[in-house]
Amino acid sequence: MAVRAAVLPAVGSPLEITGIDLPDPGPGQVRVRLAAAGVCHSDLSLSDGTMRVPVPAVLGHEGAGTVLAVGEGVTHVAPGDGVVLNWAPSCGNCHACSLGEVWLCANALGGAADVYARTTGGTDLHPGLNVATFAEETVVAAACVLPVPDGVPLTDAALLGCAVLTGYGAVHHSARVRPGETVAVFGVGGVGLAALQAARIAGASKIVAVDVSAEKEELARTAGATDYVVASDTTAREIRGLTGKQGVDVAVECVGRAVTIRTAWDSTRRGGRTTVVGIGGKDQQVTFNALEIFHWGRTLSGCVYGNCDPAADLPVLAEHIRAGRLDLSAMVTERISLEGIPAAFENMLAGKGGRALVVF
Ligand SMILES: [Zn+2]
Ligand SMILES: [Zn+2]
Repeated sequence: MAVRAAVLPAVGSPLEITGIDLPDPGPGQVRVRLAAAGVCHSDLSLSDGTMRVPVPAVLGHEGAGTVLAVGEGVTHVAPGDGVVLNWAPSCGNCHACSLGEVWLCANALGGAADVYARTTGGTDLHPGLNVATFAEETVVAAACVLPVPDGVPLTDAALLGCAVLTGYGAVHHSARVRPGETVAVFGVGGVGLAALQAARIAGASKIVAVDVSAEKEELARTAGATDYVVASDTTAREIRGLTGKQGVDVAVECVGRAVTIRTAWDSTRRGGRTTVVGIGGKDQQVTFNALEIFHWGRTLSGCVYGNCDPAADLPVLAEHIRAGRLDLSAMVTERISLEGIPAAFENMLAGKGGRALVVF
């Protein structure tokens, strides 16, 4: 039976809500009925061509749902189980995987080239970033599903798959924030809100949220921000002013723009660390002079999927959720249907809101 999905027909085209036919899960595959899917900035980047996957595709890479059926050889989940979707499954065999850096797996997106479904009109469809969560149901590789930890509501669990792993991992794994350190988070979207909560969990003494919109202050403070700065030409100076003229120990950039990366770096103290989580385009050139790189002794790091190993990190996040330290539902500012995704993209472009969640 056909299910409804939001299909990207071509790069730059609007999403079309249409019926798709999914095959029964083959060997090593799992069919999942989605409970919820988060709308991530990367979905917008895929639809406008900033990032590329084969099209036509069903986008959506953050989701959770219930297993409907499993193919031959799948033993770690069974029909009826709640699962979080992992859009970057690691192969276990490549150089990165052999070093334990599974988030950099060379084969993580190998499935994007496959045809995984067809529209009811017969058009072949690719699964976006492997998991195609902008649909009522999906069929994925078994490595893309992880059991939802006990005590985490299925709808909230959707956010774990991208925003929370990424924001938490940026703070915990990449920047390695220590108790008492000061942190600035640039960009108060889904990932930024997760990073703010992670900084609070890490015991940061001061957490500065920065965003172009003044309207996100309350959202940011609820997530743990102790200070709020509306982005301007003087942002770095304002952040130094909040930290005894030194600058923060850690900056987490969740925007992916050259000016924001440069400001984040300028906002850190001598020896400070900047982690870039935001995904920008090739046109975003960031420049540094040689003397300042020496003088400031700072670190600038990229961060992919929060440098997380989802199988190891999900149980840790679940513990934070059960203890009330991590609040997933507070990150959701809008609950929408599949038809609401284009408006959610518009809101992202306009810098409005936190996470929009498609609830099925
Ligand atoms: Zn994402
Ligand atoms: Zn690998």
